[in-house]
Amino acid sequence: MTTETLTPKELQKMDPVFGQMSFKDHEQIVFCHDKDTGLKAIIGIHNTVLGPALGGTRMWKYDNEWEALNDVLRLSRGMTYKSAISGLNLGGGKAVIIADAKTEKTPEMITRFGQFVNSLSGKYITAEDVGTTTEDMDRIRKVTKFVTGISEEIGGSGNPSPVTAYGVYMGMKAAAKFKFGSEKLQGRKVLVQGIGHVGETLVDYLTKEGAQVQITDINENRVAEVSQKYGAQIFTGSDLYAAEVDIYAPCALGATINDNTIDRIKAQVIAGAANNQLANEQIHGQILKEKGIAYAPDFLINAGGIINVYGEIVGYGKEEAMKRTENIFNTTLEIFNFAEQKDITTHQAALSIAEKRIEDRKKEAK
Ligand code: NAD
Repeated sequence: MTTETLTPKELQKMDPVFGQMSFKDHEQIVFCHDKDTGLKAIIGIHNTVLGPALGGTRMWKYDNEWEALNDVLRLSRGMTYKSAISGLNLGGGKAVIIADAKTEKTPEMITRFGQFVNSLSGKYITAEDVGTTTEDMDRIRKVTKFVTGISEEIGGSGNPSPVTAYGVYMGMKAAAKFKFGSEKLQGRKVLVQGIGHVGETLVDYLTKEGAQVQITDINENRVAEVSQKYGAQIFTGSDLYAAEVDIYAPCALGATINDNTIDRIKAQVIAGAANNQLANEQIHGQILKEKGIAYAPDFLINAGGIINVYGEIVGYGKEEAMKRTENIFNTTLEIFNFAEQKDITTHQAALSIAEKRIEDRKKEAK
């Protein structure tokens, strides 16, 4: 039988793991199952050249196992580049647990998952992500030391979101300097989409600096609350992408820069916290470049959270974490200049610098 006539979907069925579209040189993929607790999890270890693979555990009710595998492959790779570009000695990993965090999570399931993490002897270090909490990490800590994001009372680094917001703010200022000639955001119109843990603190920084902040969120109560607390304006238009603003800050979901939205975007700068903002890294990155929109790569400017948990591993405190996060300003500016020089997108520029760091380390190790 020849494979030449098969569709990509049929081919994918024949190579269900290494044949996945999102499989990009991952080192190890661990499938974890426990009948008694109902645990079904996948740990993806993308790259450990720079250090142990650190990344959160996402608990999500995926429609099927393909989706879960695809997610863990994509997310773990993202972590490799996020840590590499941030100068951390960490590799990239991520885990997914296939379950509904609201209705199916049990302490036993979390403990069992922790035992699987422990069985990898530190090659993978976990943390919180969507659907998991500090409490879950504290529980995992009872069965393994290979966990971060635990409570401050037991030696953890606390909530990473304010640090993430600070990094996004720094990245945004660098993008403004590149695009508008000044890092000052006073008077700049900024639209923040999603005012959750990160978005709210970002709004705090921006309003304190005197930016004209507009906010939007699917949670109307939060919009009213945050608007009142910081004096931010509620976005009332029908199309947020077409909003007449200087800066668009995606802080809710990924893939908001896509085929449907990209031509409507009027903002000159995009800088936000959401992971994987570009639906297609190559295509949408290139269109933004052609339109002259300064896009601050998401995995670079939202690295404050990982910089913060890294402190738990190497033993630095909040002050050092904030100092390192502040440096996102310099790195972002370097990326913009490098991209301009090489006539490539900022996403490509950030990726190539991260990849070079990994390649250099590989050579050193030989
Ligand atoms: P969060 O869940 O606290 O907040 C997300 C907010 O977005 C919520 O208020 C939610 O109601 C809103 N939202 C959801 N869908 C929306 C939509 N379609 N339109 C408008 N608003 C919508 O999450 P967070 O911790 O603030 O993280 C925000 C983003 O940043 C996520 O994409 C996350 O993956 C990414 N991120 C977070 C961190 C961190 O330290 N928390 C680190 C790196 C990346």
